[in-house]
Amino acid sequence: MKLPIVAYGDPVLRKKAEDIPKDYPELQDLISNMFETMYNASGVGLAAPQVGLPIRLFVIDLSDKEEPGYESFKKVFINAEILEEKGVLWDFNEGCLSIPDIREDVRRLDTVVISYYDENWVHHEETFDGMGARVIQHEYDHIEGKLFTDKLSPLRRAMLNSRFEAIKKGAVKVDYKMKFPQAPKGKKR
Ligand code: ZN
Repeated sequence: MKLPIVAYGDPVLRKKAEDIPKDYPELQDLISNMFETMYNASGVGLAAPQVGLPIRLFVIDLSDKEEPGYESFKKVFINAEILEEKGVLWDFNEGCLSIPDIREDVRRLDTVVISYYDENWVHHEETFDGMGARVIQHEYDHIEGKLFTDKLSPLRRAMLNSRFEAIKKGAVKVDYKMKFPQAPKGKKR
């Protein structure tokens, strides 16, 4: 089932998300719905706050991208904690399904050490670099209540402000279902 993706301006995107217990209801359904929602929107990552749930869960699938080493990079991260970020800073042009039509260069460290549980509640402590680290850092920010646009300069954010306001109102064209915080009532898309 495809879920509506909440747009920039929704308070759920600003909450620090909570860990979930092993008996969290219908977790496997939620995970498969999140993958379906993400694929439908042509995304490579999706975090639970983006479907309205302030819980520490995100999914990533880089596996159909043409990045060497990522042929089968499809992963679920539950109750993740980044233990360390290291390496060198690099810029990458990021976008976000909750912030349609805005893509900006974001500078991040290239290596991340993360503790998490997978969809079978197996614990992992792993190091990722390159694109894997980049997408993990972006999704991890979501469960910390942060967005990639927070990392832009104040001047750049000011220049984008009218576009942020348009997104809140739903005045953007998207080809997936979204929930806009300031959309006029009865005009859901
Ligand atoms: Zn995002």
